[in-house]
Amino acid sequence: LALRSLTALREPPPARSACLRLLRHPCSGEPLDRSLVLWFPGEGSDPGAHGVCVRVSVNLHQSARVLPIVLTMLFAIQGPQSFTGEDCMELHVHGGPAVVSGVLQALGSVPGLRPAKAGEFTRRAFAHGKLSLTEVEGLADLIHAETEAQRRQALRQLDGELSQLCQGWAKTLTKALAHVEAYIDFGEDDNLEEGVLEQVDRDVRALEVALSSHLRDARRGQRLRSGANVVVAGPPNAGKSSLVNLLSQKPVSIVSPEPGTTRDILETPVDLAGFPVLLSDTAGLREGAGAVEQEGVRRARQRLEQADIILGMLDASDLASSSSCSFLDTVVAPLVAQSHDSGRQRLLLLLNKSDLLSANAPASSTALPPHLLLSCHTGAGMDALLQALKTELAAVCGDPSTGPPLLTRARHQYHLQGCLDALGRFQLTTDLALAAEALRQARRQLSHLTGGGGTEEILDLIFQDFCVGK
Ligand code: GDP
Ligand code: ZN
Repeated sequence: LALRSLTALREPPPARSACLRLLRHPCSGEPLDRSLVLWFPGEGSDPGAHGVCVRVSVNLHQSARVLPIVLTMLFAIQGPQSFTGEDCMELHVHGGPAVVSGVLQALGSVPGLRPAKAGEFTRRAFAHGKLSLTEVEGLADLIHAETEAQRRQALRQLDGELSQLCQGWAKTLTKALAHVEAYIDFGEDDNLEEGVLEQVDRDVRALEVALSSHLRDARRGQRLRSGANVVVAGPPNAGKSSLVNLLSQKPVSIVSPEPGTTRDILETPVDLAGFPVLLSDTAGLREGAGAVEQEGVRRARQRLEQADIILGMLDASDLASSSSCSFLDTVVAPLVAQSHDSGRQRLLLLLNKSDLLSANAPASSTALPPHLLLSCHTGAGMDALLQALKTELAAVCGDPSTGPPLLTRARHQYHLQGCLDALGRFQLTTDLALAAEALRQARRQLSHLTGGGGTEEILDLIFQDFCVGK
């Protein structure tokens, strides 16, 4: 009733379409704002009878501040047509602070309404079965997505691809469990088809293979979520800092003709070809430098170990120098040697300062591994470098537009591993009751993944990523 007088609507507005209303204070009748009112009915035939959420959207173009401005009522019913599954009224108001506080005060005077907690809308949607836990995570990732690849990945997870995959697996397990239990109950009964247990065994082993292959991919999804480690390394003065500055389009590192200028690791988050990247500039790798620089070199080597992709950089006009040779021998050669291992770090070898080479005297590429010629000064070769980086990043992070849904969180990995471990205990040759229990445990892990029977702490952890209003 109070909401009707607020919006001066005798009837609830038509479902899911915007209508322009003059908002009035429900008690004093004072005009507050001209606002768009949207009504998302839940399932009940009598709208609002069981309570309603109110969500206030502020036009941020007109507001200097972002306000925590969502009010929601305590009672709620389930319904299919709104985000939370409850009746929901959305008020789109102008962003002036006086308007916002006026509307909030008016809403505050409505008995039963209280401000929403951070993430409460999503949590209600989850509680009403409108979203699975992995979909909730997808939504959180979407809100925080900074690059195109992250957005694509988050959207796929929000669309439920990962939870559908898990549900499919869970279904296989449920079926297997039903067969095993039937066998326990009526084992000797002739009514049971021949070979039921053999089929169960085949299904479970096939599931193991599928789970293992997803787990092998797990690092990729996490890289896509938190950024791939790309490290620029090479001898002093090769132009590493110049490249980092070019790629990040800001002066992160000091560029100087004096060798040994970059001594500590400088890292900066960048968006490279749509992929999130943590780009690190390292101290030039050389022997015999002073103590501080030595420490820099030590850290540089350490960082190289953690890199997903290494951009090895040399001065093309200085390939014969001892620092170039030693970099080729100690860093490049071992990386090239292991490049056939699938899980290993990827190397792009770059020869910088191509502008210093005269046209008829190209870099003396005496048996150099495959490389790209580049000039940070003229920009020559940068397009080719970006293209090559994109290919490497897609391999390292996984392509978010195609391929199977990725496991983006350690949590996903944990439960899948748990499921796999449980399946490892499934043996038809031993006690069938134990085999059934293994299947039950495996199924429980999958259900934890999508949020069934999730503990409160995990829910709290996931929902704390949300802001008020989502
Ligand atoms: P770092 O020690 O590897 O980080 O190298 P810097 O980025 O500090 O560059 C060392 C020197 O090489 C600076 O004087 C740069 O201006 C110069 N430099 C960097 N890239 C190029 C290039 O493509 N061509 C030429 N001619 N000089 C470059
Ligand atoms: Zn540098």
